[in-house]
Parts: sequence; C-alpha cells; structure tokens
Amino acid sequence: MNLSADPALPSEGYILSVAVPRPIDGLFTYKLADEMVAQVQVGGWVKVPFGRTTTHAFVVELPKRLSELKSDVPVASLKSVLEVSDQGAVFPEDVLALARWASEYYSAPLGEVLHCAAPPAALGLKNARKEARSLKQKELETRSATPVHPLNAAQLLAVETLEAVRVAPPSAQPKVGLLHGVTGSGKTEVYMELARRTLSEGKSVVLLVPEIALTSQLHRRLEDGLGVTVGLWHSAVADGRRRDLSAALRSGELRVIVGARSAVFAPLRNLGLIVVDEEHDPTYKQEDRVRYQARDLAIVRAKICGALTVLGSATPSLETRERVREGRYALARLEHRIAVGGMPTIELVDLCIEERVEKVQAPLARKTVEVIQKTLDDGGQVMVFLNRRGYAAFLICQDCGETEECPNCSISLTVHKKDRQLRCHVCGHQSVIPDVCQKCQSDQLEAVGAGTESLEEDFPKLLTGARTLRLDRDQVTSTTRLEKILNQFSSGEANLLLGTQMLVKGHDFPGVTLVVVVLADALFRWPDFRGPERALQILQQVSGRAGRGEKPGRVLIQTYDVDHPVIQVLMGTLGEDTFLESERELRKMLNYSPFGRMARIRFESETSNDAKSNAAAVAQALSPVSEDWKIDLLGPSEAFLERAKGIYRWDLLIKATDIRGLQRAIFLAKDLCQRKKAHFIVDVDPYGVG
Ligand code: ADP
Ligand code: ZN
Ligand code: ZN
Repeated sequence: MNLSADPALPSEGYILSVAVPRPIDGLFTYKLADEMVAQVQVGGWVKVPFGRTTTHAFVVELPKRLSELKSDVPVASLKSVLEVSDQGAVFPEDVLALARWASEYYSAPLGEVLHCAAPPAALGLKNARKEARSLKQKELETRSATPVHPLNAAQLLAVETLEAVRVAPPSAQPKVGLLHGVTGSGKTEVYMELARRTLSEGKSVVLLVPEIALTSQLHRRLEDGLGVTVGLWHSAVADGRRRDLSAALRSGELRVIVGARSAVFAPLRNLGLIVVDEEHDPTYKQEDRVRYQARDLAIVRAKICGALTVLGSATPSLETRERVREGRYALARLEHRIAVGGMPTIELVDLCIEERVEKVQAPLARKTVEVIQKTLDDGGQVMVFLNRRGYAAFLICQDCGETEECPNCSISLTVHKKDRQLRCHVCGHQSVIPDVCQKCQSDQLEAVGAGTESLEEDFPKLLTGARTLRLDRDQVTSTTRLEKILNQFSSGEANLLLGTQMLVKGHDFPGVTLVVVVLADALFRWPDFRGPERALQILQQVSGRAGRGEKPGRVLIQTYDVDHPVIQVLMGTLGEDTFLESERELRKMLNYSPFGRMARIRFESETSNDAKSNAAAVAQALSPVSEDWKIDLLGPSEAFLERAKGIYRWDLLIKATDIRGLQRAIFLAKDLCQRKKAHFIVDVDPYGVG
C-alpha cells in the first residue's frame, strides 16, 4: 500500500469508492478514516453503511484525497467506512480484471459481478468462524500421479496440438483449443495430461463442468491421475469449507479445482489452464443476477493470464465451430471410441405406425418394451430418457377442454400423481389434484401426456425382472441422494435407470447396452434459435450413454416425426455437416450468434400494461438512432412465458452487427428505464429466444 497518511502534514482526509453488491450501477463513495488508509487493499472488502443497513463492499481502487472528490457531491453527505476486513485482497488481479470486463460486457454493476465471484460464504460472512482453517495436511499430501493408461496415438496427437498452443508466446489472440471427441473417446485423459504439464510448471488449473452434482466420479479420477488434491467448487459446498478453499487457493496451497460455472472466478494463483468440459452445454449460461456465459468468461480470464483454454465436447456449439473455422481456435480431434464395443447402433421407432402398448400413460411401442425385456434378460442395463418429470403433462377436462393453469404463471400445471398434486415447474406452486373441473364441474378430468413418474409406475406392469431407479429433480434433492442412486445403478443393484436430462451428463456406466428415448419430439419445440442444435446435442449425448463397455450398445428413439432433420442426422440419412451448415446459414441470414450480437431487455411488472408500455417507450426512443448505431429492434413482444411467478414480462430484442452499437443502445435503454423507474433486466447474448 503506497498511499498512506503522512503524519507530518495535517490531514485533509480520504475518500474511498467501493462496489456494492446491489443491482445499482456505479461505485459508491465513503469517507475513510486516516488510520484505515494503510489497511485498505484493492481486491479486499470493507463494511459500509448502505441505506438503512450496512453491507460489505468491494475495494476496486485506491483511496483518494478528499480534494479529489467530484464537486457535485457534498462532503457533508458522505458516510464513513465502518470497518476494513483483515483478509487482505480476496480477489487476485486477474479476477478483478475479469469482473470489470464482465461488468462492462454484460452491462451489470461491478459489485454484482464481484458478489457472484465471491459470495458472502466465500468471504466467511455467513459463518461465525471468521478465520479460514487451512486444509487438513492429509488432504494436501502429494500422492503419486498414476496415469491410468498410456495415451493412445490419437490422444497423444491431441495433447501435442493443444500443448503447442499452451506454450506459444503470448500474443493479442487468446489461446484456445477445441477438443472435439465423441463420448468415450478419452478426452478426460487428454485434459489430465495437459493439467500435469501445467502443474509441473508451478501453475494452477480449473476444470469447469456443467453439472457439479454429477462429478464425484470425475473428482476421484482427477485426484488419482494428477496426484494432488482437487477442490470441489460450487454453491452447495458448506460455507466454512468454501472459505477454507478460497484461502487455500489464494495461498497457492491448492492448485486444482473442478467446479460449476462460478468457478471461473475462483481465486487461483498463477492460472495456467482452464478446461471447459461439454462446452456446448447451456448451463454455462447463468440466468439470474449477473447473466454471464462462463465458457466465454473462461476464455477472457485465460487471456488475461496468458493461460490456455481447452473447450471439450462431443457436439461443439456452432459458436465454437465458427471460431475454429475462422482459424482463431486450434482444433484437436478424437474420432473413435476407446471401448471395444464401438459406437452404438441407433434405431427409430415410428410412433405413428408401430403397434402400441395399451393402458399406459407414456407412448410405448410393443417393440420397445420387448427390446428392453430382452436386454434385461441378457443381464444388460437400460437407460430410459424422457424429458419431463411428473406423471403427466397436464390435466384436461374432457367435457369442456379446460386445463388447470398456474395462478402465477402462464403455463399449465403438471400432474404429480404419487403426491396427488398439481405442480408448476416454473414457480413451484402446488395444489391438490381436483376431483371436478373448475369451469364446468364435470368429473371427466384426464391426465394427458407422460412424465418420468408415469413410467416408473407403468414399467413393473410391463417388464419382469426390472429393478428400476428414477433420476430427476423431484427424486434428487441432494448430492448424497444423487450419489446413492448412481452408485446403486453402477453396482448393478438396479438394472433400469429412467430419468430426465439429468441422465445425459458425463457418466460412465459400462453395463449399459440399451438406451431408450421415449419421445424425441419433446425436444423439437424449444422457442430458441439454438433449438435444433440443442435437440441434436441432447440426442447424441443420450445415445452416447450406450455401449461404453465391452458389449455393443443399442439406442431406440421413439418419435412421431421420423422425417425431422435432427432425426435424419442421427440416422445418418442427413450429414451432420450439412445440417450444421444449414443452421449456420440461417443464423447468418438472421444475424444471430455467432454472427451478430444480441441483447434482450425484459420489462417486468405486476400488470401486463405497464410492462408493455415501458417496453414500447424504450423501443420508441431507440428507433430514431437504430440506423446510425446499426441495430435492429424486434418487438416489443410478450415473453415466451408471459407471466411467471406473478410477474408479467415483455421483451425487446436488440440485434446489432457490433458490440458498440449494442452497448450504446443498452445504455440509452437503461437510462430511460431508470428515469421512468421501470423494472428491467438486460441479458447480453441471451439463451432461449424465438
Ligand atoms: P471422454 O471424456 O471422451 O468421454 P474418457 O476420458 O472418460 O472419455 O474415456 C472413456 C473410457 O476410456 C474411460 O473408461 C477411460 O478410462 C478409458 N480410456 C481413456 N483413455 C484410454 C487409453 N489411452 N487406453 C485405454 N483406456 C482409456
Ligand atoms: Zn370442464
Ligand atoms: Zn407458476
């Protein structure tokens, strides 16, 4: 700290501007007592009065002399910093730089970004124990790294390609490589080899994964393979533990973490490598508070540190493919599965013509049930995928056609038969399943559509020898519960696992020889320009669960729409490249990502009218400048879910050819909204837009 009070001179006083963890733009300025000046560190935090309460706030610049206070702020109105934390800098410089970048790019207050980077738990603010404990000695002991397999030729080549990028001299371009390899092709071993090399240079490593709850298998593999402690970094880690991990990372004691998207902000020292596994996964996009894309931020942070980012995927996003095409990212490929079983065979079950099993909730072809039975009889394991939890999609009155809607959201309630409830999957509203129609009092209420719960109920009637487990958000309420289910399945205690999207991600169950997709059509209706791409990714990923062991795998896909392009790609009648090329052309034509820039401004209000008129006012203000700034306005229109949790939502989409035009437009919109006191949310590079 080079700015300290000189006791020889009469002090004129100091001020400190801090970033407050509140959704308000700009820094807040406080008076700073002379004796605190020496304690303040950029990257640290202080306690300040805020409104009628106090809050912690982040130090992002050095204290200044009072004389430097902007003239429009009356000195008398300044409040004083109450306390300076003794933790020193909780943010390394690179994280602070990353947060500044994110704040500007996503148009989010710096204090909010820093809050995501270091939530109160990581600062020890929610915990009585203020001091971080160092990790137990046993935890930090160096083990011997045991490479499980010697890498095969394809893996070695991939390592060399990526390593060449890693060790290249720093330049203006970020160092990024895509590792494109089918599931089971050995990508994880490649990550580990790169990590070993990075660690041996004294640098640290972050591995981002889409779903941290599913990483215990990976965690063990990493610790064994790298021979060092690997920290697990995610919001469910207990507060005290989180505090200890932060301290260990800052001191450099801990040098590898695996975590969900917020781990991109983890305070590691001397970062050398960030791996983003399943880089295409939409869970990298945070949808509340600060709407950031962790994969994109990983690249920004790596660039700040001169580190390498490796994006791994079996189904890379169109965005990433485009950067490879432009020559900005290196490409390494693993084209073959390691397991001798090879790639699974995929068969379609046409629900329009196949004979169906009667008296079951879900559409199930006789053939499908027979194949499942045969697989179980042969001692194989089966995974059944259905993209909806609950028993049925909704309750409909057969007399008047009325469906039960959520009172808070514009969506129908899902039937959960076991708990005899109707549930809203948006806001969580629950009510008892009614006996009669609310509108016409008829008792002819029918549950239509199917969910995982109905399959769980129906399978025992259709199959013999099935030991069934279910995996979805209703069933899995904790990490331990999840682990238990996964362990039961991998040990063979159960032979049939049915579930939602949760099934899709990163498990290695060598016993699975059959995967069934109950209704592929459920994936074809996303209101998003990324919809078809996403549907293909999910189906490819689900299929990839089959045949990871010695025995060959088989995949059955039930659908009403056998001609859908996504289905054709899976069946090999339409080339994947051709499909992706046409998606790319479409996006190029419409100026969607990765070609154009887009932001969504969402206006929220308790009345539909207010939300709509605020949106219209902003659209009107922007339209005269749209040509100059090269922006296109779409809307205002009702959000896909017009009402959620009791709040009406209207959207205005801004498309732009370059980021500057977009940022000017956002700035103008924010200014207008603030003056009108309109409630709004800015989402740059949004997901889920029609
Ligand atoms: P991915 O990450 O691409 O899905 P993994 O790294 O999980 O693939 O590898 C799939 C399986 O192959 C794992 O069981 C892994 O232990 C095994 N494996 C990986 N590399 C090799 C290798 N070089 N020799 C033998 N087995 C390997
Ligand atoms: Zn009715
Ligand atoms: Zn609701």
